[in-house]
Amino acid sequence: MKITHISSECAPFAKSGGLGDVVYGLTRMTNQKGIECDVIIPNYKSNGDKTTKQLVDTFNLSFDREDFTIQVFKTNFHDVPVYTIDSTCSRNLFSRNAIYGEEDDTHRFLCFSYFALAFISRNKIRFPNILHLHDWPTGFCGAFLKFSFPDLHKKLLGIVFTIHNLKHQGICKKEQLAYFNIQPENVPLSYNQIDNPNYFNITKAAIEEADRCVVVSPTYLKEIQTSIFGEGLEHFIKEKNYKFKAILNGIDIDYWNPEKDPYLHRTYRSHGLIDEVIEAKYRNKHYLQKHLKLESSHKPLFIFITRLVEQKGPHLIIEAIKHLLKQGAQAILLGSEPSFEIKESFSKLHSSQSLYIDFRFQEGLSHLCYAAADAIIIPSIYEPCGLTQMIAMRYGTVPIVRQTGGLSDTVFDIEHSNVPKNIRNGLVFEFPTLDSMDYIVTRAIKIFNEEHDTWKIMMKNGLLADFSFDKPTDAYISLYQSITF
Ligand code: ADP
Repeated sequence: MKITHISSECAPFAKSGGLGDVVYGLTRMTNQKGIECDVIIPNYKSNGDKTTKQLVDTFNLSFDREDFTIQVFKTNFHDVPVYTIDSTCSRNLFSRNAIYGEEDDTHRFLCFSYFALAFISRNKIRFPNILHLHDWPTGFCGAFLKFSFPDLHKKLLGIVFTIHNLKHQGICKKEQLAYFNIQPENVPLSYNQIDNPNYFNITKAAIEEADRCVVVSPTYLKEIQTSIFGEGLEHFIKEKNYKFKAILNGIDIDYWNPEKDPYLHRTYRSHGLIDEVIEAKYRNKHYLQKHLKLESSHKPLFIFITRLVEQKGPHLIIEAIKHLLKQGAQAILLGSEPSFEIKESFSKLHSSQSLYIDFRFQEGLSHLCYAAADAIIIPSIYEPCGLTQMIAMRYGTVPIVRQTGGLSDTVFDIEHSNVPKNIRNGLVFEFPTLDSMDYIVTRAIKIFNEEHDTWKIMMKNGLLADFSFDKPTDAYISLYQSITF
């Protein structure tokens, strides 16, 4: 069996959040389990020269009198071939400063999806049995196969589409497809944007054309079938429910490994004695405090590592930080991609000896923060799966999370939970309110200062939990097999 992933992200080449981590971790583990995997991503400016790339194909395409020269580069990353697609034409599509957030995103990713399929059909890559697509940016591949690549479509055994976040669906005017020689009147009704037949919805098209759809946690799969979390697609998803399966994401425990993480000041074994973990974390904390010019102290250190967007509850993060500082704790926020308004709202907090705020995406610094911190706070309004709570636990950092989506499936309150005591690993609150933030911060600081054994148990249970890609990969392999046999 051979799987080709077409994705807008794959760490470390292109990562804006969890999608990049998941595509990297899943393909690497699938490959290790003996199933060949390739990945195709766009060649963004940020891809950089992570490893040496080899030019493997060049071809020309024309749409609507616009001529493209497509170049495909290959690099092997941990034995997984990663192909990056570059194009030259009158406008630059991929090599920009940001992965997303450009005005022509739908056009850029429709082009990328088309180019990836054109490349596969040229037989310069191991021929896939299954195409695995991720979120709206590559979701239209299924439709392109049907309309523009019928031979390739016939030869494939199936398509898997994973929904990492339903918020972004890829909404386009039907005329946009004329560029790719698909006439608007031929667009199937099932692709129609809800309540607006002049537009089509790439995520709906992806669900329609996929053989199987995956959602990244059991709770999120339930949630998206409700009007609160369904983003308008709840009825459509219920109708197609027979295609859906939940597979909880994992993390690559080799990459996220405090024992050999090159970004740490002091490495440590996550399965070592808890007192050794505490000692090493303290060394990392002290180093980080110095590095970020924070006061050198034993104060509890809380971190926030996130894309700073509405989904992640920025107003709740502000409240938590205010309350933390009032109670004598330290806080670090790495919050990337904030809008102007969100950034402004943080200007009422001033960096001090107890607070460090950074609006950049800081991969290396994030590793040191996971290792140095006592707790991570994740007050998401919704969270399809969430990786930061799993990464934090791998580094002995206690997760404090809102009860939603994948956070509900991975973090269990040390006192108020129905699961066995040996898997209770953090603190959980239900409502996304300012009062909840004050309550949970007060509770966390009290436990940290006064109930050392309880804090240690949370750390230990988190360190012992298995969030590796082992189980998710087995689940994906069974899914692929259910399509191919
Ligand atoms: P999402 O996919 O919604 O962004 P996840 O929790 O699934 O959220 O994944 C976030 C990933 O991105 C983690 O690897 C996290 O460490 C990383 N990350 C998020 N924001 C930053 C940042 N500002 N700097 C460094 N890493 C970040």
